[in-house]
Amino acid sequence: MNILAFGSHPDDVEFLCGGTLLKYKKMGHKIFIALTTSGNIGSNVIEGRENIAAIREKEQLEAASFFDAKVRFLRYNDEGLVDSEALRKDIIDAIRWANPDVIFTNPPQDNSTDHNVTGTVVGRVMLSLVGKNVPSTVEPMKKFPSLFYWDTSAGVNFVPEVYVDITKEYEEKIKALLCHKSQISWMSEYEDQEFTDSCRIICEFRGLQAGYKYAEAFSSFRLHGVMPNFALLPL
Ligand SMILES: [Zn+2]
Repeated sequence: MNILAFGSHPDDVEFLCGGTLLKYKKMGHKIFIALTTSGNIGSNVIEGRENIAAIREKEQLEAASFFDAKVRFLRYNDEGLVDSEALRKDIIDAIRWANPDVIFTNPPQDNSTDHNVTGTVVGRVMLSLVGKNVPSTVEPMKKFPSLFYWDTSAGVNFVPEVYVDITKEYEEKIKALLCHKSQISWMSEYEDQEFTDSCRIICEFRGLQAGYKYAEAFSSFRLHGVMPNFALLPL
């Protein structure tokens, strides 16, 4: 299968779905990562938005190597994402590029602006993925993928439907997350928890709920004709 993780910022994918992607990789599936922004305001130390984006894209490519993933950057401005025709076209193009059986993305109930818009628009374009007359530079898909939402930041407003046991993948997930070096210093400026501690806490909390040491939690997108197939998850 082809698996697409569609995030808003470098580090979303590793933080919230990295263990699940590692499981898919071990099973021989192909991994794709798309990001709506390159997190170009995600530093108060690095000068210039272009420089921040360049560093964060490099970090993302290093992290993606843990999944042998291909990466596509849409390069919208960080914290500036709005639902627009241009964004919809770019998101359709990116999904068609990956031709996924399963998509993971941010849940719309995550009130972080970019997370909310990315997750919302990915859901809104689902019916357009197979349309010949949809504005897109990539061939239409022949089938609808299953769409799942990963957790919100710190699990706020999120009620999981399904849990993936990532106990065996947890250490490698953290190694992939640590590629995002610029974010480790940035987050520590305004959060009491260390970057990897925040990740561990949410993995332990979801694991506690599901009876595993570490877990990642997901909910599903449901629409007439585009229902999720839970059998495609690496449970
Ligand atoms: Zn994010």
